[in-house]
Amino acid sequence: MSVNVSEQELKTIVQKVISGMNTGAGSDKQLGLFDTMDEAIAAAKEAQKIMQKMSMDSREKIIRNIRKMTKEQAETFARMGVEETGMGNVGDKILKHHLLAEKTPGTEDIVTQAWSGDRGLTLIEMGPFGVIGAIAPCTNPTETILCNSIGMIAGGNTVVFCPHPQAVKVSQYAVHMINKACMEAGGPENVVVALHKPTLEASNIMMKHKDIPLIAATGGPGVVTAVLSSGKRGIGAGAGNPPVLVDDTADIRKAAKDIVNGCTFDNNLPCIAEKEIVAFDNITDELMNYMITENGCYLVSQEQQEKLTATVITEKGLNRKCVGRDAITLLKMIGVDAPAGTRCIIFEGEKEHPLISTELMMPILGVVRAKNIDDAIEKCVWLEHGNRHSAHMHSKNVENLTKFGKAIDTAIFVKNAPSYAALGFGGEGFCTFTIASRTGEGLTSASTFTKRRRCVMSDSLCVR
Ligand code: NAD
Repeated sequence: MSVNVSEQELKTIVQKVISGMNTGAGSDKQLGLFDTMDEAIAAAKEAQKIMQKMSMDSREKIIRNIRKMTKEQAETFARMGVEETGMGNVGDKILKHHLLAEKTPGTEDIVTQAWSGDRGLTLIEMGPFGVIGAIAPCTNPTETILCNSIGMIAGGNTVVFCPHPQAVKVSQYAVHMINKACMEAGGPENVVVALHKPTLEASNIMMKHKDIPLIAATGGPGVVTAVLSSGKRGIGAGAGNPPVLVDDTADIRKAAKDIVNGCTFDNNLPCIAEKEIVAFDNITDELMNYMITENGCYLVSQEQQEKLTATVITEKGLNRKCVGRDAITLLKMIGVDAPAGTRCIIFEGEKEHPLISTELMMPILGVVRAKNIDDAIEKCVWLEHGNRHSAHMHSKNVENLTKFGKAIDTAIFVKNAPSYAALGFGGEGFCTFTIASRTGEGLTSASTFTKRRRCVMSDSLCVR
């Protein structure tokens, strides 16, 4: 899905939204925004005290209104996100917002465990941490903020968000709208907060703050390492480089379609998206042929690969002007005028090729040949770099699927579908945009943001 809109139209929409936020109906301020981290955390702490006294039913009412608001605002969030970050595409971002609104778990995710017997009744109840510090990426800015908010509020927490410097306006707008939705549903103001001018220094203050017991970091390796070094409990949702393995028992035509659909979704921004292919030698030609003839893939020559490498990977790392751009734009950057309908750039190479071994977050798929399942698994494990984040496979051989699943040891392993099936999009299960690969919580949900509390009643309340 894609929505055509000119750059000027986008700018006008964003300006209208921002000015509406300042002077909009019934409100003359941006809700949940503060000048200093201390003020923001203090306000979130007050809001959490109120939240804690509210019934689960009231929490669920707030969440229902956040879901409703997210659906109503999906297009605005999508357009603002693309306008501010220059990344991704509006159509897919709209779908992502609808997905999170519908499939992010609420209070039903918080389940009490109970033991009863002659010596009474013991419960393990999942209680709030308090004010959670949450760091969000620029690749899925509002998707992360909205999804985290639903889960964290369901757990009885309030949240201080540290948005990415490239996605400040759209993140602030999400914070404003979440507060508005919460207050409309009878909840407190400042259930989520952020700063007027978020900085890295402010994030560091948050990480050391006495009133922040838990930090959830969604981003690259730098931020996850910073959070895990903070001395606080940290949930680390870090980088991936998901390989997709295709063996010779797969439905090759379907595999080609699924892989391109997954890889090109929101211009490859999701951390779970297919980033490179490892295919059995005897089906590689057929797979690439389907990708080119039926799925809008553009095969780049050796010379074009070199130009692309020099453009995409700079001395300082990934060229941010390439991240989340579509295939036609990327090809234009190396002087190639690709035909309309081009969705993905492909080529064949060794696993060490920089465009294959690096997590790119743009629709470029290198294809690595493998002799057999052991060779393919070894290459995929190497390419995943021990992130243990996501991997995918197309196969009808249960033994091969099992062998790969065990060896790759990732939080997400999608079989015979596009990668986004892992988010509940065309697959079973709930949605999240914070996949805690590094710290092992996996796909986070409300219960991830709670602490286990044992409540014991001795010698009573067992009525069996
Ligand atoms: P990024 O690491 O550049 O930024 C993420 C966030 O961390 C931003 O808010 C940034 O301001 C902050 N940050 C960065 N370094 C920091 C530090 N030292 N101290 C405090 N804050 C710091 O990532 P990005 O480009 O926004 O997002 C892309 C990366 O995030 C990719 O590697 C992708 O795989 C990963 N990601 C992972 C998940 C997941 O669920 N595991 C989800 C989305 C993105």
